[in-house]
Amino acid sequence: MTNSLQPLADRIFYLPNVVNIGIVALAPDPVGGGRALLVDSGLDADYGKAARKACEALRLKPVAVINTHAHADHFGGNDYLARNCGVRVYAPAFEEAIMRYPELEPTYLFNGAYPIHELQNKWLMAKASPVHQVVEAGELAVEGLSAQIKPLPGHSRAQVGVLVAGVLFCGDAVIGEGTLEKYKIPFGADIARQIESIHALQAMKVERVVCAHGEPVSDVTAMAEANLAAIERASRAVREAVQTPGDASQVVARVGRILGLQHANVSQFYLFQSVITAYLAYLQQLGQARLELREQAALWSAV
Ligand SMILES: [Zn+2]
Repeated sequence: MTNSLQPLADRIFYLPNVVNIGIVALAPDPVGGGRALLVDSGLDADYGKAARKACEALRLKPVAVINTHAHADHFGGNDYLARNCGVRVYAPAFEEAIMRYPELEPTYLFNGAYPIHELQNKWLMAKASPVHQVVEAGELAVEGLSAQIKPLPGHSRAQVGVLVAGVLFCGDAVIGEGTLEKYKIPFGADIARQIESIHALQAMKVERVVCAHGEPVSDVTAMAEANLAAIERASRAVREAVQTPGDASQVVARVGRILGLQHANVSQFYLFQSVITAYLAYLQQLGQARLELREQAALWSAV
């Protein structure tokens, strides 16, 4: 299922797949030999196994994982790697809670209620992961390596990027144009922070940017502009959808029609609904939409 390991810089690689995994060679352990740090671990045990094999081909053993955020497709390989390689897991606060209790992801997508079985799948609910250390912005020492943790919130509540020797693994702060074309809207939980993070990413002086869904780039400008344009297009669609007052589910249906989307399954519908809710909150923050209780409904309308 995986392609071959690709070099990014001296001792830094990534394993290309639907979800890319970063691999950084650490200084060898005098007793145990070569060791590697992973950035994210993919969707499931198959990704974990593939990452382990890729490390072994480099004569390395995975000993640590930094997870950029707690979406299932970014930490689903942790369980395998923790059980079979004993990796130490690093993750940002808040995200770390979801990794330890992964049923929180389908639960928040289902308005906090116990999630329907359609949402309890591996794309939305990974196996639980241990978390050994919560990471904060700034320098992080991992097994003798110094990494920089860069806050990139918005796509998820507390996403971080991981910068090592000029290579920035940015999680889903931006996504490749192919993925953008497919989903029309980059997933976001807090749109104002998401936009700020993309600008912050553009301002960082780095050699390579490696997003999880797309190809690495030396200059992130075009990718950042494409993501910002998609966010602007989504904002416009939601503004258009609230020109006539409607409750959240009416707005979701209208935006889907405006963007010409076909939801392939119930999971995709709930992800889309969650993003549109984030846009409604964003428009309210901007003073462009308001929420009013009328009779038995909470109605959104344009300001
Ligand atoms: Zn994500």
